[in-house]
Amino acid sequence: MEIRVPAPVERIIGQLNEHGYEAYIVGGCVRDMLLNREPGDWDITTSALPGQVKELFHRTVDTGIQHGTVTVMMGKEGYEVTTFRVDGEYEDGRHPKSVSFTPNLTEDLKRRDFTINAMAYNKATGFVDEFGGVEDLRRGIIRCVGEPMDRFTEDALRILRAIRFSAQLAFEIEERTLEAIRVIAPNLARVSKERVQVELTKLLCSAHPERIALVYETGISRYVSGTFDEIYGMGTIPPIPTAIPPQKHLRWAAFLRKATPDQAFTVLKDLKLDNDTISRVKTLVDLLGRPLVPEKPALRRVMSRIEPALYDDLLDLKDALLPFGVPETGDMLRRARTLSGEIRRDGDCLDLKSLAVKGRDVMDAGVKPGKAVGEALASLLELVLEDPSRNTRDYLLQHLK
Ligand code: ATP
Ligand code: MG
Repeated sequence: MEIRVPAPVERIIGQLNEHGYEAYIVGGCVRDMLLNREPGDWDITTSALPGQVKELFHRTVDTGIQHGTVTVMMGKEGYEVTTFRVDGEYEDGRHPKSVSFTPNLTEDLKRRDFTINAMAYNKATGFVDEFGGVEDLRRGIIRCVGEPMDRFTEDALRILRAIRFSAQLAFEIEERTLEAIRVIAPNLARVSKERVQVELTKLLCSAHPERIALVYETGISRYVSGTFDEIYGMGTIPPIPTAIPPQKHLRWAAFLRKATPDQAFTVLKDLKLDNDTISRVKTLVDLLGRPLVPEKPALRRVMSRIEPALYDDLLDLKDALLPFGVPETGDMLRRARTLSGEIRRDGDCLDLKSLAVKGRDVMDAGVKPGKAVGEALASLLELVLEDPSRNTRDYLLQHLK
């Protein structure tokens, strides 16, 4: 198997070799190349110490110098070059307390999580595969490097990484690795919620989001968050069709659609998702649960509540979920799409910005400044959402209560 390594990566490895250092691409990129997948990033591992790496390249950034990582800039792109290292003792199954450098590539590969992630490659040496990674790739297996119990005890995040890779690659988790996952699951309680969330989001945005079921089956869900566990701890997880684009708000909304909007909010808040995503998911979960009435006034009311892009997401989600049960029929959804197209084409007033009267006008008409102004405008908008031809100054001022 020949690997096509990008030219800048070749140059970095060549430069290190010329100065007598070993250097390889390593980890996820080797795995992905062997699978004919486009690697997300190219990590380089080398026997050179960080200071030695910095001497060899003009432009470098100390991204993770305490862990031995220097980013080498080639044009606009940066490539992480990390010194061979062994991880020291782990603190509460989180980060290693310390790392130490080693001149030995095998030592570096040994600290990596799974056999498929523990391979290195360069042109001169070919593949370095000390733990059967190629064979596990061929068989489609996620297996720890070394003793699974020890490896998950060192770092419990690996539990979720195993499930996430199994979802991304459609691989099975090897039996002893799976057994250890069940046993070490409680340690996940000590892993930071952000890191848990990143793994779950990658899992949901993968080719096999339904594998999130493994998080429940292996007894991990209760250590993710109480509400997360509650939602599907007893019941079955609804299908998450891959027709839904792999964007986090869409996949999370599809996953959480059987929860209440408040539960969805709590789960995502617990997991420290960004506020924008949380609010979009909550809105989508809410609107997925109720029928979209294919009549213009009802559609305008929904459209007035959310951003146009989120409204389109809602329609797309409902379409994708149609075979699995939504409150609408296919006909209703088609009708809703047509009618909302017309609402947009006609530029129907959907918000206070386009209302024919402003706060000033209602105050001039006698409404007391303060809360009453907002309420008056809101009730006028209601009238206009019902019938957009009412959006004139005269009509609205006459109907001001
Ligand atoms: P992705 O496609 O998500 O980038 P990846 O395998 O490249 O997958 P990274 O998180 O980028 O994952 O890590 C790069 C490499 O570092 C991994 O392939 C693995 O060898 C090693 N690694 C990452 N996280 C851990 C961990 N928690 N424990 C042990 N090794 C790890
Ligand atoms: Mg990576």
